[in-house]
Amino acid sequence: MATEMAMLHDVSRCTGCRACMVACKQWKDLPAESTPFDGNFQSHKGLSPKTYNLIKMTERTENDTFHWDFIKFQCMHCAHPACAKGCPQNALRKTESGAVVLDKEKCIGCGYCADNCPFDVPKVDEQTHKSTKCDLCADRIENGMTPACAQTCTARAIDFGKKDDMITLAHSRLNDIKGSFPNAQLYGVDKNGVGGTHMMYILTDSPAIYGLPADPKTNDAIDLWKDIIRPAGQLMGVGAIVGAAGAYALTKAIAKKHKNEKGGKSDAD
Ligand code: SF4
Ligand code: SF4
Ligand code: SF4
Repeated sequence: MATEMAMLHDVSRCTGCRACMVACKQWKDLPAESTPFDGNFQSHKGLSPKTYNLIKMTERTENDTFHWDFIKFQCMHCAHPACAKGCPQNALRKTESGAVVLDKEKCIGCGYCADNCPFDVPKVDEQTHKSTKCDLCADRIENGMTPACAQTCTARAIDFGKKDDMITLAHSRLNDIKGSFPNAQLYGVDKNGVGGTHMMYILTDSPAIYGLPADPKTNDAIDLWKDIIRPAGQLMGVGAIVGAAGAYALTKAIAKKHKNEKGGKSDAD
């Protein structure tokens, strides 16, 4: 059995140099995107079919102190990925390493993965009609290599390794920075509404500052669809499948409502 791996981003060490974005584009053979200057240092507005890994930057002033906060944002590689649950083609799957990967041959570009992701990660390419996202460089992991983004970070803000080791490292680093950052906390390390994530963070402040949901959740409606309605429809025949499709449309609407209610922020919005 393959070892469970994880990536850890320590925002206290990140300089916002964006070398990890360049490395991702290079390894994934993704083209550059032209981005307008909006009066701040944020480059791309969000993830896109051409950008799987994004350094998000927030400028804020708190207690008369100016803060620049950087965070590396990409697929979180959830332990229980809602994207895979929502996919009617079974085009997304979780590998033994923990990476959630997409089979482009199976993908029909319906966008249900995007609708159901609590982090609004997948982006459907309008040209190819295929979903897109970070796969944790699953091809590199399978060959004993480190993901391209982690390999390139000279600030040692990104670590990659066995999940247990990353959890130990996260706790140790958190302990080290608590004196300088009293609100520092870990994210994705403990089990949460998505079972924990294989992309984990050491944050210097609350998740909201970095645009992360405090309590990401997989919608129960997706479990209902994937585990009960759909298999039942397949057992009962075409008529039932049509009925099940209607039920799925309903579950999808519920999922969307659920996301809006919890204030989920979309890069596509
Ligand atoms: S390469 Fe490292 S320091 Fe530079 S932006 Fe990426 S995570 Fe931050
Ligand atoms: S962050 Fe979204 S796309 Fe990535 S594994 Fe989780 S549900 Fe899927
Ligand atoms: S793991 Fe690979 S695909 Fe994902 S952000 Fe890093 S370089 Fe890009």
